[in-house]
Amino acid sequence: MAKSKLNKIIEKFVNDAIGASYDEYITITDKYDEFSANADDSKICVPKWKGYKFNKKTLADEEFELYFYSVSNYAKEFSLVTLSILHELGHLATEDDIPDEYNREKELNILCKKAKNKKELNRMYFRLYDEKMATLWAAKWLSVKANRKLAKEFEEEFYATLLHK
Ligand SMILES: [Zn+2]
Repeated sequence: MAKSKLNKIIEKFVNDAIGASYDEYITITDKYDEFSANADDSKICVPKWKGYKFNKKTLADEEFELYFYSVSNYAKEFSLVTLSILHELGHLATEDDIPDEYNREKELNILCKKAKNKKELNRMYFRLYDEKMATLWAAKWLSVKANRKLAKEFEEEFYATLLHK
């Protein structure tokens, strides 16, 4: 499948953001309608943009943003798309720092049993060890002024393309 212009813009941003060490790190998926990182393949999955709901925030999105805002003074200046990409980059950048004994599956199961409702489940989800590490990496990245400039330039190009496609 040919890459859309939007994906090329994301690819450039990812390249600028973390350098050339991740080749072929973007994959287009119809499996999800969201961004996700596949740490095993060191890839970020981006949705097929057709039908992608840019303005609709899910409960998970809301809790993700709230958590991000709580760890970064700059997060509010950026869109959910940018924050999501940075979070996924965080997964790729921190995958080697996750202790072997950490069992995500097990932690998720405990979470599902403990959470009283969906909102709480989403709130706790972003505090899972690997999720937290990913967001903290992204927050640290955003704390650098030159990086914020990169992210702003990415956003401008991304949304300009989105509106005129
Ligand atoms: Zn994540």
